[in-house]
This record gives sequence, C-alpha cells and structure tokens, in this order.
Amino acid sequence: MTKAVKPLMPLDEACAIILSHVKPLQAVESVASWDADGRVLAEDVSSELDVPALDNTSMDGYAVRSIDAQQSGTRLHVVQRIPAGSHGVMLHAGQAARIFTGAPIPPGADAVVMQEHVATDPAQHDHIVLNQAAVAGQWIRRAGEDVAKGVVILPKGTRLQPAELGLAASVGRDRLKVLRKPRVALLSTGDELIMPGTVAPADMKPGTIYNSNRYFLRALLQRSGCEVSDLGIVADQKQATMDVLSQASETHDLIVSSGGVSVGEEDHVKPAVQALGVLHVWQIAMKPGKPLAFGWLNKPTTKAAAQPCYFMGLPGNPVSSYVTYLCVVWPFLAALQGIVQPAPSAFSLPVHFDWPRPDKRREFLRVRRNVQGGLDLFPNQSSGVLTSAVWGDGLIDVAPAQALRHGDVVSYWPFSHWLS
Ligand code: AMP
Ligand code: MG
Repeated sequence: MTKAVKPLMPLDEACAIILSHVKPLQAVESVASWDADGRVLAEDVSSELDVPALDNTSMDGYAVRSIDAQQSGTRLHVVQRIPAGSHGVMLHAGQAARIFTGAPIPPGADAVVMQEHVATDPAQHDHIVLNQAAVAGQWIRRAGEDVAKGVVILPKGTRLQPAELGLAASVGRDRLKVLRKPRVALLSTGDELIMPGTVAPADMKPGTIYNSNRYFLRALLQRSGCEVSDLGIVADQKQATMDVLSQASETHDLIVSSGGVSVGEEDHVKPAVQALGVLHVWQIAMKPGKPLAFGWLNKPTTKAAAQPCYFMGLPGNPVSSYVTYLCVVWPFLAALQGIVQPAPSAFSLPVHFDWPRPDKRREFLRVRRNVQGGLDLFPNQSSGVLTSAVWGDGLIDVAPAQALRHGDVVSYWPFSHWLS
C-alpha cells in the first residue's frame, strides 16, 4: 500500500497562520519629518488648525461683493491690494480689492473675478470694469476645506509617503513619532554561491553561480521599511546554519534566508530551525515557491517576553524567492509594523495568451500589460529565470488547475503595489 501524500498547505491558509503569530512591534522613536519617508506612524496625527486657515483666492484677480457685480460692465473702485502673505480690510459697496492667489479674502467680499475677466478703466486707473458677472463663492477656497481643525488626518499605522509628509507639514509638524524599523538579518545558503565582485565571470569555477537573491531580497526588505543586517552566505552544513541563526536571533526581529529549505540532503535550514525553535509553516501549494518555511527561533515563554525572532525561509530559486517575498513576507512585515493601509488589491484584466496546461498548484505568472489593455505572458516561466520578473510588470493569480484562454479575465497585481 502506498503512503498517502499530505496535500500542501494553500497559500491563504499559510498566510493566515503566519499573520496569527505576528506580534506587532511597539518601540517608538521621534524623527524629523524630513527623514520619515517610508516610516510607519506610531501616533495619530491631527491638526491644530484649519487648512487653509482662512478663505482665500485660488486666482489672481479682484475680490468683490457679488451683490455689486451682478452684471457684465459693472464698474468698481479698487481700494486695496492684497498679495499672498498679507491680509485685507473691510470691502464696502462699489469697491474691489486687487488680490493674488493664496491671499485671504477681505471681510465683506464673497467672490473673486479672474483678472482675465476685468478691464482697467483707461480714464481712471484705480477703477475696473467687469466683463462678466460674479457669482457668490467663485474662486474662493474655503477655510478648512483641506483639513478641519481637530480631525485626525493620518492615523497611527500609516506608512508615510511623500503626500503624507506634505500633509503633516501643512499642519505644522516637523517631527513625527514613528515605529522603530524592523531589524532583519538576511542570509543566503548554498555552497555554489559566489558574491559578484569577488570572482570575475571568466574565472568562475564550474558549478558556481552568482548570488542574485541577496541583492533583490535586501532591496525588497529595505523597501518594506526594514533595517537589514546582511549575514552573507552560510555553508550548507547544519551546525553552521544553526550557529548563524542562533546568534542572529538574539538581535533581530526576523531572519530571512534563501535556499536550503527543501528536502535535499544539502538542505539544512529546516532541521536547524526545528532544533532552535518552532516551525509553523513548511511548504505551500504555490508555484513558483513551494519550499517556504515560517517559524520563530526564540519562542517567548511568558507573556512579558520580548519580541520573538521570526524566521522566513524562502526558496533558493530566484523567482520563487521573489514571488514568495511579495505574497508572504510583504504582508507579514506589514502586520509586524501595524500598517493600516489596505493590502494591494488586484485589477481584473484579460489575458492575451493561452495557458492550456495549468499546474495543480496556485500559480503566479509573470506578465506585462500591453497597449490594448490586456496582459502578455513572459515565454519562460521557470522559477530560475529572473528575467521574467524584470520583463514583467506584475503577476497574475491562476487558480489550481485553471486553464486560460485568450480573453479570460484574471486578477493582476502590478509589482509597483509592493515596491512603492
Ligand atoms: P535550494 O533551494 O538551495 O535547493 O536552491 C534551489 C536553486 O536555487 C538552486 O539551483 C540554487 O543554485 C539556486 N539558488 C539558491 N540560492 C541562490 C541565490 N542566493 N542566488 C541565486 N540562485 C540561488
Ligand atoms: Mg541550496
């Protein structure tokens, strides 16, 4: 009788288990807003003022009382001049104020006439003639229309990006409380790996390859807001792997490894993690990316225990490593940092190719949008072909055993969702 093969864990189930183990980071630091790009807010930012603070003009022109300016041809006396940065005085019947974009509307005025709709009276230079009637409220930006005083404009857990930094500055914030960056140790396993720069291509020994995973994983982790310690390449030996993991677990929130997590005799990552801690997930039903491991290395024994050191073992094949990072490590790091922005959502787009022989695992194909609004497929979807991730601008999600015909609509995620 043949032994039943345990089905692999579906990706969604693996992610749910991983997220259920996440204990979000708590340590907070104050940084200059200048330096806060990409950081995660650890406070609710609210405003102590209305933005804009006063009603002001969105055009260069003349502030008027609309009641005086019901008809084209109205003649008004220009009695004041209000550049941005100053403020005017009460406007009375028959009067207008020369006004420039951003300047506050003077009391009494309730509309702005664009300078293009006004002629100066050649006989009397301090008089204007309107060539259009004015409607109350026109070209006025209302106080508080951007931000109302007292309102939370950026909630705790917001990942700060350029627009968020601008908004915080608009309410006067030059410093922000942010979460400490996750400390992540990155290591590569594989005796075949050579670091670029150490051996020239012409001098490489047969069987050796350059370590590409280390470069993109480091960059991906940095884009996820992490402080990365690069631990280099670990030999394919259980004891060496255990030594590195054990040491790194003392000072890091997460260890990410690539390679050595499969079932070969040279794959020592899984037994090393099991010897040091707990493995919660191992192998998932996705392609590329089956050999993925998640666990923790110094299981906290009490409630008060320090943050655990999590472990993510990514596959060695470069595309598998890349795709599992996006699908698994990225949401894990978002949860670890308590990020409140929604996870990337998929677009529905038609494929402009056939995919007649689907895999029985859920598959993420590297595709590129075309000018017809459809998706083209990179011809070689092998998990070792990193060119597919460079040529492609995103992934599509193909359900287990789902064949695709030209025109079928699929879920597509642009890489930019994860990389911003
Ligand atoms: P492994 O998971 O260790 O069995 O590795 C699977 C495949 O990925 C092998 O062909 C390895 O040579 C390759 N590989 C592993 N690590 C890396 C790396 N850091 N950069 C490029 N290729 C790698
Ligand atoms: Mg290996």
